[in-house]
Amino acid sequence: MHNDLQKRDRAVNWHPYTQMKTADDAIPIVKGKGVYLYDNKGKKYIDAVSSWWVTLHGHAHPYIARRISEQLNTLEQVIFAGFTHEPAIQLSENLLSLLPKNQQKVFYSDNGSTAVEVALKMCIQYTYNIGKSKTKVLAFKNAYHGDTFGAMSVSGRSAWTKPFGDMLFEVVFIDIPVKENLENLKEQIDHLGDEIACFIYEPLVQGAAGMLMHDAENLSELMKFCRNKEILMIQDEVFTGFGRTGKLFAADHLSEKPDIMCFSKGLTGGTMPMGITTCSEEIYNAFLSDDKYKTLFHGHSFTANPLACTAALASMEILLQEKTQLDIQRIMEQHSGFAEILKQHPMMENVRQTGTILAWELKTTQQTSYFNETGKMFYDEFLQRGIIIRPLGNVMYLVPPYCITSEELDFVYQNIIEVLDHFKNEKIN
Ligand SMILES: *Cc1c(COP(=O)(O)O)cnc(C)c1O
Repeated sequence: MHNDLQKRDRAVNWHPYTQMKTADDAIPIVKGKGVYLYDNKGKKYIDAVSSWWVTLHGHAHPYIARRISEQLNTLEQVIFAGFTHEPAIQLSENLLSLLPKNQQKVFYSDNGSTAVEVALKMCIQYTYNIGKSKTKVLAFKNAYHGDTFGAMSVSGRSAWTKPFGDMLFEVVFIDIPVKENLENLKEQIDHLGDEIACFIYEPLVQGAAGMLMHDAENLSELMKFCRNKEILMIQDEVFTGFGRTGKLFAADHLSEKPDIMCFSKGLTGGTMPMGITTCSEEIYNAFLSDDKYKTLFHGHSFTANPLACTAALASMEILLQEKTQLDIQRIMEQHSGFAEILKQHPMMENVRQTGTILAWELKTTQQTSYFNETGKMFYDEFLQRGIIIRPLGNVMYLVPPYCITSEELDFVYQNIIEVLDHFKNEKIN
């Protein structure tokens, strides 16, 4: 009963990033299988955005489900201070073996925002512990690192952060690096001298900003400069991690290594909430002391939850299988073929791709922004057609689970073209 669930939902639930006054009723989903989500009327939707970028191998993946279920019957949770368990040890071993070699220690938390909070605290306290207290942070304009206060502080100032403006700590925002501004960026950083504790950035793709992309070479050069200036680097791979950019991590495109890395979203294949912050031996060592004040006083009740660790282990196993790696390559190739078609379309602007992420902008006289109304029209039209494409303003994008077949992708592409043609002759603002 669609309506009954919607009525009950509206009576008690407050949805994320949703203006509840004007929002349509939420669609009740009763089942997920592979790339599809099913509503309570039996209608199915292709999840072309991986349910907010988390689902890697499709919904209700039987192997991940079985592994979680076995773990659930063995050990569901244990305090991670003073205790440990096989899934956490194994996951740390497996993950570190895939990361840049300088990543040596794993700190667990619950989501992307907390992974960022931990990273920031590691950096700031690192400078405190070594007796060179620094508190300023460098970040990219339009950055998004999460919704908790620290994560908000290092995110670009926007409508999302406005009510809290005075409570956010000081951050120096710089442009994303392109060939033309690299020297200028270096000068800006140079100018700030020794005050900067760390530089936090989304590598290659700024997701929530509207899938803004920059290339690996320029970022690598900026990182190299920060390295020389002894500015710690936090690479936020919450979105880009686990294959989205075509390689296992965005780090695999870069010639410089970060000091700290953050993961969540695809970490558990999108099945369980979990965040991870990894760091170098140098950072870890700065917290080793007989002085108890040098301890990292941070932890969450569900730190290294065994079910989430097991889900991550199972998901990473699937990710590393040859079939999945071939799927990722196939999606990339199919995307770039479709990108060429999109570029020819009169309503398209700034078609761009990094790995399995394809984004484009709808031409409109309104400014590109999160509140651009155009996207809503397209969102509704795609829903009608059984496809979930959730625009960021007038930026639309595809971030499909890797299990999506060629046929399903073609179905999505074809509908995109049909919807564009459908609106072509209508006046859109
Ligand atoms: C989504 C996201 C976060 C925040 O993760 P949550 O789990 O939503 O708190 C942080 N950084 C990046 C790059 C993200 O895309």
